[in-house]
Amino acid sequence: MKRKTKIVATLGPASDSPEVLSKLLSAGVNVVRINFSHGEADDHRERVRRVREAAAELQLPVAVLADLQGPKIRIESFIDGAVELETGQPFTLDTQMAANAGTRDAVAIHYEPLLADVKAGSQLLINDGAISLAVDAVDDHRIQCTVEVGGKLSGRKGVNLRGGGLSAGGLTEKDFDDIRVAAELDVDYLAVSFVRSAADLHDARERLQAAGGEARLCAKIERAEAIAALDEIIQASDAVMVARGDLGVEIGDPELPGVQKRIIATAREMNRLVITATQMMESMIENPIPTRAEVLDVANATLDGTDAVMLSAETAVGHYPVQTVAAMAKICIGAEREATADRAASGLAAHFERTDEAIAMATMYTARHMHADAIIALTESGTTALLMSRQDTHIPIFALTQYPASERYLALCRNVFPVAFLPSELNGVVPVDEAVACLRTRGDLESGDRVLVTKGDFTGPGGTNAMKIITVD
Ligand code: PGA
Ligand code: MN
Repeated sequence: MKRKTKIVATLGPASDSPEVLSKLLSAGVNVVRINFSHGEADDHRERVRRVREAAAELQLPVAVLADLQGPKIRIESFIDGAVELETGQPFTLDTQMAANAGTRDAVAIHYEPLLADVKAGSQLLINDGAISLAVDAVDDHRIQCTVEVGGKLSGRKGVNLRGGGLSAGGLTEKDFDDIRVAAELDVDYLAVSFVRSAADLHDARERLQAAGGEARLCAKIERAEAIAALDEIIQASDAVMVARGDLGVEIGDPELPGVQKRIIATAREMNRLVITATQMMESMIENPIPTRAEVLDVANATLDGTDAVMLSAETAVGHYPVQTVAAMAKICIGAEREATADRAASGLAAHFERTDEAIAMATMYTARHMHADAIIALTESGTTALLMSRQDTHIPIFALTQYPASERYLALCRNVFPVAFLPSELNGVVPVDEAVACLRTRGDLESGDRVLVTKGDFTGPGGTNAMKIITVD
């Protein structure tokens, strides 16, 4: 059985050597994530170059996702590198303190608006929630707190406010620079961090287009405000990420599982892609096998219908990057085999405005009821394949396209298998028998297979207007 759920792997020092990179791709990575929170433009350029080289060598369609840092609020640093905070002790955040003057009693935070964003009773979480502070009082440059959950704290750690509401803007100057780098690198996806509303995405899209970039936008859902504006954010994006690291800190653990399911379901209903991210195989940073809880977490995201599961530190700095991908791939396949959820009903009441959408839905309905062996989408933009993939089935969707960019875009898409396909008749009607022959050569089809094909009578994106039913002879 082919694996339907895709794998996104973050690149970093642990995955930089050409050997490891090739092994990661062979083990099942479909999309690589370049994290712009770490490293310089030249590091990103070099990583993207190496990935493309490895992907070309292995003849695999691999997408590149550039992830912007966004307006993450951070504390400054400590004189001695780190301090040990005890539960119950007072601790102050000070906007006027020198950057590296932090002590056990106070640390600088050079984000002035925080003074207005918090009040007595607020809860601040530092380092992904490892440290928790209760705000007691706020004056013109200090936030006086009591440590609720103590522990070791080192410099430059991120700060979140429980319940959300930090007023940090959508995109920073650094993000603007990074968007230009992403455009120059012609990445396939641009992930926008800490979005609050659709406006943040419109802004990012405008900047990206001004820089000549053609990437699809991925909104990271990681603020409490984003949950309130979920529909408009998904509408303004091509993909969304359930960014559970920051999101979990802002909305709290009890809310997180339900919200994950809601984001995945809504994204699918709105014909968008969705990635489930953060701590999926966390223990494999240090260990060669996952915990049972991680096995179930990956499997449950798959059962929820996520397009992809993501690895962060596991592949960027972990000790077992290749083993992690291999283990994750196996878990996905196992969960898919057991999948009983029938998502066919979603969207069936919808009104199909577009021809390609009507053909896509008709094809999925027919494929299901004919027990087809495969679906072939002869596609340019990839849209028909995406639309069909929003109906979850075990029937693989082969997206045959002459455009490498469409192949890479679809690399993220659940149950879609992009294939490079150069028909002999470029400007006319694409011959279906050539498409079938192409898949037979790859071993994806055999004699007797019942196949549904979607295609268009003319070229141009959104041109799909026909479905054909054939049996491979
Ligand atoms: P990050 O985003 O890894 O860039 O913080 C993902 C998350 O918050 O879960
Ligand atoms: Mn985050």
